Amino acid sequence: MLTMKDIRREGDPILEKEAKEIDLPASEDDKQTLREMLEFLKNSQDPETALEYELRSGIGIAAPQIGISKRMIAVHVSDHRGTLYSYGIMNPKIISHSVEKTYLDGGEGCLSVDREVPGAVPRYARITIKGVDAEGNPLKLRLKGLPAIVVQHEIDHLDGVMFYDRINNEEASELSPLGN
Ligand code: ZN
Repeated sequence: MLTMKDIRREGDPILEKEAKEIDLPASEDDKQTLREMLEFLKNSQDPETALEYELRSGIGIAAPQIGISKRMIAVHVSDHRGTLYSYGIMNPKIISHSVEKTYLDGGEGCLSVDREVPGAVPRYARITIKGVDAEGNPLKLRLKGLPAIVVQHEIDHLDGVMFYDRINNEEASELSPLGN
């Protein structure tokens, strides 16, 4: 199982480069990696498992964060209504987005960043993404709220972008925040 020692931290060059598309149909290795990424998030949110393995709680993870420069992300996050969005996604791509932007009140955090970085990160309020799940099935999702923000944060990791690269308090001052 993945633990914090598998997580690459800021400054690691793999977090600064563009990750490669997954060749489809995906190999068993790639599928297994994606399943493990999702499992890590579930474990990290389970109080007993998190305590036992000293996992920092995470709601999203991208393959470069575990040292694999391939376009795969996993999210395990609930929206404000308590609806769970739990997905492993290969080659995720934003195919459309709202004009409206928002930002997470209180800023964003990252498993690869062991410090608080205050500041607002403007994100699209709504996105539609396409990709392929860990079983090889095509996936199309319409997202808003926290799940939309998390997916944008994770796709950024595939392009070598960290959340603090996008902090823009001036732009955010014109936007409505998303409460958390
Ligand atoms: Zn991150």
